[in-house]
Amino acid sequence: MKTDVSPEPHGRKRSKGKVYNQVEVSKKDRSIAVVRSAEVKALDAEYFAVKDQIPTGFKLEKEYRKSRKRILKVLGGSEKDWNSYHWHLKNRISRVEVLERVVPLEDEDKKQIQKVSKKYRWGVSPFFASLMDPEDKNCPIRKQAIPSVFEQLDLSEVKDPLIIKYNSPAPLISRLYPDRVIINVTNACSMFCRHCLRRKDIDFKDVTYPRWLLDQAVEYIRENKEIRDVLLTGGDALALSDNQLDYILTKLDRIPHVEIKRLGSRMPCSLPQRVTPELCKMLETHDPIYLNTQFNHPKEVTREAQKAVDMLTKCGVIVRDQTVLLNGINNDPHIMKKLMQELLKIKVSPYYIFNCKKVEGIRHFRTTIADGLNIMEHLRGYTSGMAVPTFIITAPDGRGKTPLYPQYLLNPNVDGKPLIRTWGGHILQYPDEKISNGPPNCINRNEE
Ligand code: SF4
Repeated sequence: MKTDVSPEPHGRKRSKGKVYNQVEVSKKDRSIAVVRSAEVKALDAEYFAVKDQIPTGFKLEKEYRKSRKRILKVLGGSEKDWNSYHWHLKNRISRVEVLERVVPLEDEDKKQIQKVSKKYRWGVSPFFASLMDPEDKNCPIRKQAIPSVFEQLDLSEVKDPLIIKYNSPAPLISRLYPDRVIINVTNACSMFCRHCLRRKDIDFKDVTYPRWLLDQAVEYIRENKEIRDVLLTGGDALALSDNQLDYILTKLDRIPHVEIKRLGSRMPCSLPQRVTPELCKMLETHDPIYLNTQFNHPKEVTREAQKAVDMLTKCGVIVRDQTVLLNGINNDPHIMKKLMQELLKIKVSPYYIFNCKKVEGIRHFRTTIADGLNIMEHLRGYTSGMAVPTFIITAPDGRGKTPLYPQYLLNPNVDGKPLIRTWGGHILQYPDEKISNGPPNCINRNEE
């Protein structure tokens, strides 16, 4: 918008007879604003200097296309196959002899993978494998997909961090909260993430539960009228067929107190081809549906993921992200900020950052709470509030999610006023108040 900003104090000069109150600022105020703008910009100078060097799925499109061609050749597939999620599931890479044709492996790597695979299942969708950098052993995608010696070395005792036996009041149900439950619908996934906290359930074989067992889970929900939110997960909820999903969602729709359904699925990231027009058409009939997915690195935010999310949002599904904080993959404020910004670009809303849990075989991925809080410190204020998820640690003994925040309230009462620290580091007293003779509280329960 072209405006004529007044050189006079009090912004009186007009442009074509109009006063633009918001743009007419005195010279003095404008110069103060210019200094302030330079100050806020400088606060994130370090990120601005590196952000364009952080690899993202969009920037790596050319490389991914080359990998796709190579993988198709190795697996004997066609471009048409690449678009079929059935083909990807059928051709999940889970043998060293195939993997070494996709990314170079040293003899020692091969030995370790063989060893680990006796204890833990591994496998990766050809799509996710195409995001791996064949030149870089430390590629964050490889670390999530290829077993490492550390899994073998970790002998910690926790196998079930959700303590299912204490939190499963009915078959397939996990209940940790008052108004919502999980139905564990399958243990199948498009890939077996090396950091998976559910590796105990992943086991060595895909399991899809029979309808009579699913019916018992649904019956529990029907009998407990306070349950308004049901999460289908596993495993990966989208590992179920459209028919199986439709069956469960239809049953849930018939329960009047179930207000929303959620799907837990990594597939928008790890196998976006799973999001088909047929799936979307079916999901549309079960509105409202939320889908919680998992992206852990900006390299995972690809054109294909964007297309999948677009299709889901067009049919009314709200897609949100639950990133896992992983040592050596994303425990860096710049990487995490870039990831959150890339997610917003494809209309995925950042929801949680989970601290990696203490589970046997995955401890090498764990990092400290301080790392998580440092990331949160670098998000809040430094980027759009929509790009700031909640940092969560899961309490021991299956006691549920606990949010942690950097400390902004330094003292609740200094001479009658709270002392706060702003995101930019200013320490100020906040003029908190409640007018005693003001309007009443919105709800006075004593009068109900
Ligand atoms: S997709 Fe989810 S459930 Fe499946 S292996 Fe990965 S983290 Fe675990």
